[in-house]
Amino acid sequence: MNKDIATPVRTKEILAKYGFSLKKSLGQNFLIDPNILRNIISHAGLSEKTGVIEIGPGIGALTEHLARSAGKVVAFEIDGRLLPVLEDTLSPYDNVTIVHQDILEADLLQVMQDHFADYEDVVVVANLPYYVTTPIIMKFLLGKVPVAGMVVMMQKEVADRITAVPGTKAYGSLSIAIQYYMDAEVAMIVPKTVFMPQPNVESAVLRLTRKETAPAKVIDEDFMFVVSRGSFVQRRKTILNNLQSSLPNGKLKKEVILKAFEQIGMDPGRRGETLSIEEFANLSNVLYEDFFEEKKKRQS
Ligand code: SAM
Repeated sequence: MNKDIATPVRTKEILAKYGFSLKKSLGQNFLIDPNILRNIISHAGLSEKTGVIEIGPGIGALTEHLARSAGKVVAFEIDGRLLPVLEDTLSPYDNVTIVHQDILEADLLQVMQDHFADYEDVVVVANLPYYVTTPIIMKFLLGKVPVAGMVVMMQKEVADRITAVPGTKAYGSLSIAIQYYMDAEVAMIVPKTVFMPQPNVESAVLRLTRKETAPAKVIDEDFMFVVSRGSFVQRRKTILNNLQSSLPNGKLKKEVILKAFEQIGMDPGRRGETLSIEEFANLSNVLYEDFFEEKKKRQS
């Protein structure tokens, strides 16, 4: 087996060879501990039949472990300076494709068709650039990209918000948006010392697994997320007060919102953080028609 890229000595050697200076603005904190990488891989359930999408291969530290365990890896890297480095470091592996593109610009459904039509499962595995953690995850989920799961390193605080349960401080619209589609758990907490340079924040690896069935019947998912985001605009306020002022493109009258609460037998004095996903689904379903009715009236 080839020597691991992710050791402090080898990483420094590679960076020096290419005169590469790390860019903080691109979230470039590279992993320099092979044990952490093995641990990440063990949570991803990879086999020859699995395809992997990686975001931000950097100098290839995680990519080579993925290449050893999965059938195929497609890795998106925004920083063109890393292309010659990756060509060099990943030369022993013929099952890796590097795409020089911002992942947020990528046509992921096309990527699935072009690269993974023959694979049983596709998973996302990445040490994410922290500044775009949420947009990246939401791009996969809202874009209905059929990945079976994700094993992703991120800021611990964000992992805590994603996995939070109702009634806790960390619970909010991000928990709801992600847990609507995926089961979420923190797979491990990661010390700063395994990165170069060390980030200022704590890190964690989050494991997301696609839910077999949606937790609730929802008329319009986008609208449910509008309602859940709107319910947390001011956490201390009741949902009633938040929704009265926060729904975009047209407001709902207080009576209409109150009627919706009555219809589903919910106390209008509750705050967003006490509602489960199912309750947000019920609330958004009864508000849905009233909201669009009201909006039409305003526009005519
Ligand atoms: N996988 C490597 C490792 O673990 O050592 C590097 C991870 S580093 C935290 C994040 C990587 O994502 C960097 O290589 C950075 O250039 C890249 N990156 C940042 N923004 C990106 C984007 N929008 N699309 C694709 N790659 C991005």
